[in-house]
Amino acid sequence: MRTSVIGYPRVGNSRELKFATEKYFEGVLSAAQLQETATLLRNAHWQAQFENGIDFIPSNDFSFYDNMLDTAVLLNVVPKRYRDLRLEPLTEYFAMARGYQGVNGDVKALAMKKWFNTNYHYIVPEIEDDTEITLAGTKPFDEFLEAKNLGIVTKPVMIGAFSFIKLTKFTGRKTLADFITDIIEAYSKILIKFNDLGVEWIQFDEPALVMDLTADDIALLIRVYSEILLAKGGSKVLLQTYFGDIRDCYQEVIALPFDGIGLDFIEGKKTLELVQRFGFPADKTLFAGLVNGKNIWRNHYEHTLHILAELGKSVPDIVLGTSCSLLHVPYTLKNESSLSDEYKKYFSFAEEKLTELAELKRISSSEVPVKVSEYIENSRLFQASRFCPNASVQSAVSSLSPDDFIRQPAFNEREKIQQAMLDLPLLPTTTIGSFPQTAEVKANRANFKNGKINLTQYIKFNKEKIAECVALQEKIGLDVLVHGEFERNDMVEYFGECLAGFLFTEKAWVQSYGTRCVKPPIIWGDISRSQPMTVDYSVYAQSLTTKHMKGMLTGPVTILNWSFPREDISLQDCAFQIALALRDEVLDLEANGIKIIQIDEAALREKLPLRKSDWHREYLDWAIPAFRLVHSGVKAQTQIHTHMCYSEFSDIIRDIDNMDADVITFEASRSDLAIIDVLNQCAFKTKVGPGVYDIHSPRIPSTEEIKAALSRMLEKIPQENLWVNPDCGLKTRGNAETVASLNNLVAAAQEIRRSL
Ligand code: GLN
Ligand code: ZN
Repeated sequence: MRTSVIGYPRVGNSRELKFATEKYFEGVLSAAQLQETATLLRNAHWQAQFENGIDFIPSNDFSFYDNMLDTAVLLNVVPKRYRDLRLEPLTEYFAMARGYQGVNGDVKALAMKKWFNTNYHYIVPEIEDDTEITLAGTKPFDEFLEAKNLGIVTKPVMIGAFSFIKLTKFTGRKTLADFITDIIEAYSKILIKFNDLGVEWIQFDEPALVMDLTADDIALLIRVYSEILLAKGGSKVLLQTYFGDIRDCYQEVIALPFDGIGLDFIEGKKTLELVQRFGFPADKTLFAGLVNGKNIWRNHYEHTLHILAELGKSVPDIVLGTSCSLLHVPYTLKNESSLSDEYKKYFSFAEEKLTELAELKRISSSEVPVKVSEYIENSRLFQASRFCPNASVQSAVSSLSPDDFIRQPAFNEREKIQQAMLDLPLLPTTTIGSFPQTAEVKANRANFKNGKINLTQYIKFNKEKIAECVALQEKIGLDVLVHGEFERNDMVEYFGECLAGFLFTEKAWVQSYGTRCVKPPIIWGDISRSQPMTVDYSVYAQSLTTKHMKGMLTGPVTILNWSFPREDISLQDCAFQIALALRDEVLDLEANGIKIIQIDEAALREKLPLRKSDWHREYLDWAIPAFRLVHSGVKAQTQIHTHMCYSEFSDIIRDIDNMDADVITFEASRSDLAIIDVLNQCAFKTKVGPGVYDIHSPRIPSTEEIKAALSRMLEKIPQENLWVNPDCGLKTRGNAETVASLNNLVAAAQEIRRSL
């Protein structure tokens, strides 16, 4: 049994690459110094894999920003506006990644998109009419040689031609047909070069194959690889898929002249079935992705060995591997000093996954695997009960009935009641929740965490900020106010810390994009609320004003999607547990006089399955009910709001309406208000506030500009359904621009109101 890793995290055990890169951006570090950090990290990562006896160690999985961008640059896919800046290669690279403003010009960054169903984001390459696609770099070859010089033979990794094409934008008149020959030729040259270097195995990553494929897609796949693989010479080529199964093209893929095929047995629900049903060619190697590259729980050896045994019945040559790149998990548990071993023994981050691969290799090569000590220890872990289950939470979830998910009375009826009760003007103005998180706000939280101030001092400061924030909003003239979220580090961690059932790490960072990393909490056990989480601050804020104060919560789907989920219960059960805890909070807010409650579902779209046919059955059919469960218990007069980021909603717009909130605010301005046509066409019932300006930029929108946006909205949305608000929370903005922007927003709403 041999072992393989698809890719390794690169940001550094202590985020060294992040800090070095940011210093380089500031001009504190030279390009050579940044390169030095990169070299050290690559070496350390190869060494760690080598020491664990990994047989197929990736190279070229390193990146200063993103592998799609690396591939684009390697293929000379650099849009003219960046070439015209005439920058050094590394500066040009970062200009594409994050924009450039300097002596050579002013150009925005390329678009960034979510990488399949992960929280990682890739840079979207652009092919223009005059792009000359050709092999224009040496990164994959350099990194192979770099490892070789250390005595480590690696398997270079490239984003495959099919996925590259599917994720790239053609921005001119020309289409793929005009470029396909050049793309094939460039990839062929890469293979020839690898061949010259004596590379034994090359890995082409093709995650796009797990999506729904059309007949044209499959024809493209066949064409591309029948031609590229002619150039492989003595090297062997592995087609690596991940994030799902390749049910639409399995038979075509196994018929192509690859030497190895990598399949995901974790997220690929049909992978085993495909292999068993259609067989696997005897002359190829199966790279079986059985060690989860996305979640942080220990591998269940018994289960893994069972699947390997099943596969072994029909596949002669199997390599055991990760299910996807380990990029999506943190580095190592060794960094966690406050988490007790009792907990830690259940987790496995990247480094521990290398140990798992090594142990599985050892166990499976033994005469009597079940007698190997690592196997016995692993079985014990899975036999013992892991945590203290909360019986009352479990029974609450299992006794839910369909009525619990339906709010009464129906939307139209409560609409009238709320109108009478809340007495809001036409086009009511509001914000999404957070106000600028200034240095002093962050310092207050940090000082409290480090014990420099006590709880009383901490709360006193937050209440002062709330009072300022309320006064400011009254002065600006907003209609529905917020408390400002000064107590929140981030919208999931805050609730995780308040709820029982979550665990927190200190250094378990995962790259989200570029130098940005996230530290998702771990859902450890049954989730429950032992005490109110937001009531005090909301009630205090409401006491300062006669206007309505919005209660502010994060919804169950977003909390779940931005955490590492449990694997021993279903996502649905976990979402319902969180929903029940939040439901109690909603009812508490209502009982304490809060009349409007916003339940954010910023990340609802994020975990939509990759295949459309799975959308409802596997996700929306529990995600939407989970949200409904949170608010279905409130009185008719209580107005429920929700908020969603990312503007691509057209395909699930009915499901969003079906969340049965009274009002929804959307991120919309960056997509040129595309959402309003969608709302119009589907006769969206929920009242809406498509964001009137982009909060991701420090730019102040003028009153005229906001009026123009509102006028456009009013052409498509009935005036009694329209709310006026920014795109998202204001926490990343400064005070001055926030006040100016909101003043203009209120002025615009008032002027339009008068004209109606
Ligand atoms: N209420 C949150 C805020 O205003 C929403 C954040 C988000 O949508 N990402 O910050
Ligand atoms: Zn948002």
